[in-house]
Amino acid sequence: MEASSRGTLPRTVRNVVLTANKRNCTYCSWGAAEAVDHVVPWEEGGRDDVSNFVPACRRCNSSKKNRTVLRWKRDIQARPPSDLLASFFGGKTYHDPDLVIDSTPEGLIEHVESVQAEVCAAFRRLEVDLAEGLMGEMNRLAARMGNLSTHMRALVHAEFLLRLGEQEVDLASRPSDRYLRRIQVDRRQADLVTTLAQVGNLTTSQVARDALAGAKR
Ligand SMILES: [Zn+2]
Repeated sequence: MEASSRGTLPRTVRNVVLTANKRNCTYCSWGAAEAVDHVVPWEEGGRDDVSNFVPACRRCNSSKKNRTVLRWKRDIQARPPSDLLASFFGGKTYHDPDLVIDSTPEGLIEHVESVQAEVCAAFRRLEVDLAEGLMGEMNRLAARMGNLSTHMRALVHAEFLLRLGEQEVDLASRPSDRYLRRIQVDRRQADLVTTLAQVGNLTTSQVARDALAGAKR
């Protein structure tokens, strides 16, 4: 799933991303997921693609801004300890993502990649669900087409039966091939009429009326 330009994400995409990582922020792991973060930022060539989306809390999302994860982490590490302490005691609390993103670069990347894999897997499941739903819909449609085709055949038969009925022919008495040729009826159709008439102990006219009424229902 990919969008050609940056825009508002479809609600479905957003929901799938935000439910990954147990609905927690990917970066601080205990902030609630509130934003869809581009792991590789748009400015760095990252795309609007599900493989590039992870859930993030608003604070991490806005702290990371348009940086890659490693660049973000390096910038945090480059900050003087006094700066970090100032933000800690300045009321930002340890929920400040700049203070929470504390794993090794390898560990951090590994964790982010595992969340990315989880998001992709969730989308694959969604695609499978959608495909199965579509398949079910197509089967239902095919069944309705089958019914329609049955009705069409009934109509054709009804028309034929009416033609016979108009001639007041009782096909239950097994018409001869010569007669069938004369009225330009093929054997299969004649057999059908014969069977219908025999089963119902009806004349052709009655079968014709019933068939036409049935086809019109
Ligand atoms: Zn966070």
